Order: sequence, then C-alpha cells, then structure tokens
Amino acid sequence: MQFADLHMHSSYSRATSNKMNLQELSAHAKTKGLDILGTGDFTHPVWLKELKSKLSGENGIYDYDDIKFVLSGEISLIYKQDGKGRRIHHVLLAESFEVVDQIVEWLKKKGRIDYDGRPIFGFSSVEFAEAMMSISKDIMIIPAHAWTPWYGIFGSMSGFDSVEECFQDQAKHIYALETGLSSDPPMNWRLSKLDKYTLISNSDSHSPYPWRLGREANVFDLKEISYINMIEAIKNRKNFLFTVEVDPSYGKYHYDGHRNCNFSCSPEEALRLKNLCPKCHQQLIIGVLHRVEELADRKEGFRPDGAVDFKSLIPLSEIISMVTGTDVFTKRVWEIYNQLIAKFNNEFNILLYAEKEELKKVVKEKLAELIIKNREGRIKVLPGYDGVYGKPIPESDKESNLEKFLR
Ligand SMILES: [Zn+2]
Ligand SMILES: [Zn+2]
Repeated sequence: MQFADLHMHSSYSRATSNKMNLQELSAHAKTKGLDILGTGDFTHPVWLKELKSKLSGENGIYDYDDIKFVLSGEISLIYKQDGKGRRIHHVLLAESFEVVDQIVEWLKKKGRIDYDGRPIFGFSSVEFAEAMMSISKDIMIIPAHAWTPWYGIFGSMSGFDSVEECFQDQAKHIYALETGLSSDPPMNWRLSKLDKYTLISNSDSHSPYPWRLGREANVFDLKEISYINMIEAIKNRKNFLFTVEVDPSYGKYHYDGHRNCNFSCSPEEALRLKNLCPKCHQQLIIGVLHRVEELADRKEGFRPDGAVDFKSLIPLSEIISMVTGTDVFTKRVWEIYNQLIAKFNNEFNILLYAEKEELKKVVKEKLAELIIKNREGRIKVLPGYDGVYGKPIPESDKESNLEKFLR
C-alpha cells in the first residue's frame, strides 16, 4: 500500500516557505506516512536543477531519503474562450527528466518560467494538451482543484461547465480530476458527466508549513512502484484503494461568502439573497458546493459504479487544536503531535488505525476519543468560504448549535 501526494509546491512558488526543500519535504512526508511525493514545480529552473542533482532512480520514480518522488508541476493558464475570460490550473506528471526538459523547452517558447514555481501562460488548455501529447502520451494532465472559484476547471468565476468544453477534441487525453479540498467524491458523483474521470486528491500544500503535506492523498496498491504503474492505476482505477479527503467544509471555498465582510452562507441562502452580500451588496464569491449544485444532474447520495473509495479525515494537528483550544500553529499542539508520532510512527497510522486504548497511553481520553470520532466522520466542520479555511467545531458545541457559528 502506498500513500501518494502528487501536487504540492517547492520554495520557488510564491507564498511558500524556503523550508520546502527535498530534505524537509521527505522528513515531513515520513511523519505524515506518505510513501510517494510529487516534486512540484518542475518547470522552475533552479528547483529542476536541484531535483536533477539530488534525485536518482528509474522507471519514473526517484528516491530521496526513503521517500519516492514523481516529477510533477503545475501551470496557470489565463486566456479567452467563447468570449469569456478563463483561468485554469493544471497539474502535470511526467515520466522522466528527458520529458520534463522537452516540456520546459516548449513552455519557454511561450513565456517566462523562472519567476514562480507555477508559471502563467496565455495559451488554451486545448493547445497545451496537444503539445504535451506530442511530447509523450505518458504525460498526465490533471485539472487542479477542479472546483475552486478561480483557477478551477469548473470554477464559478472563470471555469467551464465540462471537461469537453475546456479541452474540446483533446478531452480524450484527460483521465483524472483533482477534487481539491472544498469538494469530496460524493459531491463529484452528482455529475454523471464526470463518471469517466478518476477523482484524485492531493494536498496542494503551498503554505509556509510543510506539515500540510498529505492532508489529502491517494492510496495505491502497486505491486511494483513505477510511474507507468501509478498512472495506469489512476487511468483504470485498478490497484487504487482509496483517496484521503478532508471534510469538504474544511476547504477554503466550500460555502459562498465574502471574507472582508465576514459573511458566509449556504448555496440556498445565497440564492435567497440573489447571490448578493447583505453587508456590501456586491456579488458573493460563489463557492464549490453552490457550483456543484448548479451543474449536478443527480441527487445527493448517488455512487457511480467503479468509483474509487475514499476516507474522510481532518488533519491530526486540527484535532489536537480542538482539544488544546489553541491555534494549530502553537507549540502546545506540536508537542502533543510529536508525542503521538513518537509512539505510532506516522500520522496516517494514528488517524486510520491506532486503537483507542493505545492512544490513551499517550494522550488524554478526550483527544483519543476525537481521533476515533474523526475516523468515523463524526466531527462537524464550520464551512470555509472566500479563502477562509473551515473550522472543526469543538465537541461541547453540539450539532444543533452549528447555526450559532454561521453568520
Ligand atoms: Zn493551483
Ligand atoms: Zn460583502
């Protein structure tokens, strides 16, 4: 069994810390319980040079400090199609440095690649897919965080209504969609037109904190770990056991709202408000749940045949923070976190498998209970909106009090 997080960013992306180097990344991957990590940012010349000098391996899998790396990157496309401005991010996976070099050569003809780990270009998704496929059929293009209002292929602000509308005749080369934090598989299952796409999950960890790695992940059961076997597992959903998802409410764009106005609401409430903010009277930022509702052709609860399973887990640091009552960034949270890791080896062991009695030997009963509740999907989360993360709600605040947290 392999836990894989294929989309994150190095220190060469804006707003990421310079802690995101290979050493830090592999150390944090081990703490989390990840086996395979995307390198992120392979288009960046300095990062690529570092990757080439430090990674060794074969079959598209590169080793560093007992973690396996896959070459990955992300690009941002800003262009017009059908009279509408489009802004879309795509994750890229490639099987070798030779292929990455060819991708970089092509991108360099189109614009600069050295100012950010996720460079911006003005060509369309169609042109991009065509060019990538002419380099190698084994390159994977995966629309990133598919539902986020900006930069998601289905985003409310600058996206499309379908993969086919975005990629046109190149749609046949798209096999997977990244659900992003604010949506989970059941939300995506509500669109019959997405049945043919495998839903994958990655952390897209950008933050200055590499411990966000693996907050979402893919779990494979590959007999032999190679790039081709991994992308085959994604394409055919064989040897693809499940994805790890956060509660979609935890994502930064689940609900509708305005961050600056301190206002958020459900899609139903937004419709009642004609999508206008009651505070500033401007158009609300329409979140992922609303957008899914708009495009869905099925009721909640439908599960298509052959869909990959998933497990919903809030990161351990958030669970600890609920008990300490202090922010996830505080020392107290990480002291407890590290005590747990010392006993159980990694976070996925704790979140998925540790028994309550064993947990109680290290932490107080209340935390042990919350860890089990998390595994059972029994922790409520106050929905995120307009760039604000959702918040797990403390135990004392019963479900019936959820309303009290909603503005
Ligand atoms: Zn992105
Ligand atoms: Zn407002």
